[in-house]
Parts: sequence; structure tokens; C-alpha cells
Amino acid sequence: AAKRAGRNDYHFYISSMDAGAQAEFDLENALRAALARSELFLDFQPRVDTSDGRMLGAEALLRWRRTDGTVCRPDAFIPIAEASGLILVIGAWVLKEACQACRDWQDGPLRDVGVSVNISQLQFGRENFLQLVMEALREAGLPPHLLELELTESMLMEPTDAVRQRIAGLKSLGVNLSIDDFGTGYSSLAYLRRFAIDTLKIDRSFIADMADDPEDASVIHAIIALAISLGKRVVAEGVETQRQADLLAALGCHEMQGHLYSPPVDAARLAEFARRRGAARTRRLG
Ligand code: C2E
Ligand code: MG
Ligand code: MG
Ligand code: MG
Repeated sequence: AAKRAGRNDYHFYISSMDAGAQAEFDLENALRAALARSELFLDFQPRVDTSDGRMLGAEALLRWRRTDGTVCRPDAFIPIAEASGLILVIGAWVLKEACQACRDWQDGPLRDVGVSVNISQLQFGRENFLQLVMEALREAGLPPHLLELELTESMLMEPTDAVRQRIAGLKSLGVNLSIDDFGTGYSSLAYLRRFAIDTLKIDRSFIADMADDPEDASVIHAIIALAISLGKRVVAEGVETQRQADLLAALGCHEMQGHLYSPPVDAARLAEFARRRGAARTRRLG
């Protein structure tokens, strides 16, 4: 609309926006162009088995290489992508890209390593979400059990019938579902029993202070005990020190993810990690 308006109107429009809104507007346009110019890419962070250190899976994490060469982390642009609805196009791209990457892994040292993908609330709420997941799997030729979708607590809080059906549909497809940033959302845990969630990922804010803060340590203890008693897997995010890893292992945490093992890396380095540490063939339960 601004483009079609006369020159004076356009200037009026710009000057009536505050600096923050202008910056958002610029970022949104840059992000739109980024999609068209293929400036978005995925890095992958290993998830390792606590018992033997082998890689079980990897989380796909979105990055944006700006035209000036700097790499932008998702926290800087996902909120804008969500507010503008661009996350729908971006999210669909991430799903396809991650499925294709994981399919490629099956022919080398990353055989049997699965991929997990972060799903935004807006994306999950769309009617065509199940369809999108099916398409991504089919196009890539990826077996569904190698894909995990990372949801958040808020998506499952007051579920509509459509949401219930979507989850049932995803489960019958055979994909895995996890709850990301677990412990930071609402405290009602009823939905954990109600829904077929496979895995809880403990938010890294709890891990960061667990060695010094008894309250964080007890939250972690409780989450792990809950997961085990409900027959779910539990993953610790943001593990940075051996002391954290030892404490988590003693509590029975199944999987670890964090800089202690590897930061998010490209597919070549991920394969290198698997060659060095091994990739696990199966996931233990319990
Ligand atoms: P998340 O899903 O909780 O991902 C984990 C974040 O923790 C990643 O940040 C990862 O780089 C970081 N991390 C992992 N290990 C460590 C550690 O040992 N220490 C520290 N300090 N950080 C660690 P990243 O890549 O910046 O992503 C931030 C968030 O952006 C993600 O949090 C996720 O919510 C969102 N995100 C990333 N990719 C996507 C995507 O494709 N779609 C959507 N909707 N959201 C995404
Ligand atoms: Mg995640
Ligand atoms: Mg997280
Ligand atoms: Mg997250």
C-alpha cells in the first residue's frame, strides 16, 4: 500500500512509525528476501545417549546468513517471523530440509540417527499441519520414526478437538513428539497423561544452575522422576560441564544435548562426530 501511495504519503507513513516498528518492518522485509535468496540454513546439534555417549539424534536449528556474511540466530528473527506469519513458509521449509538431511544421513556414519524439528505455535495450529508433515516425509523418503517434532507446553494446554486429532494423526503416522523447554510453561501436568508425548526436554535454564542451586536441582529431579514413571524419555538441554552430566546421569536422565558434547554444526561435522563417538542403533526405554 505504501508503494502505491504518493511520495508524500509514503514519507508520512514512515515517519509515523516509531523506531522499533520501523526496525521490525525492515527485518520482516529482509527475512522475506532471505527466503527467496536461500539465505536460511540448518545446523544440527547432537543428542547423545547418557549411558554410552553415542549419538541418537540431532536437533535442527535454523540460521540465517545475512548478505553481509553475519549469521543470525533464531531468537533474533523467529519472533518477527511469527508476528508476520512468515513462520508458516519458513517452518514448512525447515521441515522439508530437515527430513531430506536426515534421509541423506541414512547412507553413512549417521545411519539410524533421527532428526528433531522445532515447531512454532502458529504452524502447529494450522489445519494443514499433518498434511505438511506427511508431504515432507514422503518427498524425502524418510521413515516417520526418524522424525521428532518439538512442541511446547502451551500448544497442549487447552486443546481443541482439532488439536487432539492432529496429535493422534501424528502418532498414527509414527513420528515422535517431544515437549521442548519443559518446566518453563504452565504447571498443569494433566496433558502429559492425556497425550501420547514420547519425550520431555528439560529447559536449559534449569541445567545451567543445577550444580549450585538446590531448587533447580530439585525441579530437574522431579521432571526426570515424572518422565520415568510415565514411561517417557527425558533429555537435558544445554549441558555444558561434566559435573552437570554426572549429576544428570545419576538422576537417570536418558539423553544429553549441549556444548559439552557439541555446539550446533553443519552436516559434515555432524558426520565427523558420529564417526568419532558412534551412532546408536536403538533407543532404550525406561
Ligand atoms: P531450543 O529449541 O530450546 O534450542 C536449544 C537452544 O539452546 C539452541 O539455541 C542451541 O544452540 C542452544 N544450546 C544448546 N546447547 C547449549 C549449551 O550448552 N549452552 C548454551 N548456552 N546454549 C546451548 P538457538 O539455535 O539459538 O535456538 C534458539 C531457539 O530458537 C530454539 O530453542 C527454538 O525455540 C528456536 N528455533 C530454532 N530453530 C527453529 C526452527 O526451525 N523453527 C522454530 N519455530 N523455532 C526454532
Ligand atoms: Mg528445541
Ligand atoms: Mg529448548
Ligand atoms: Mg525452544
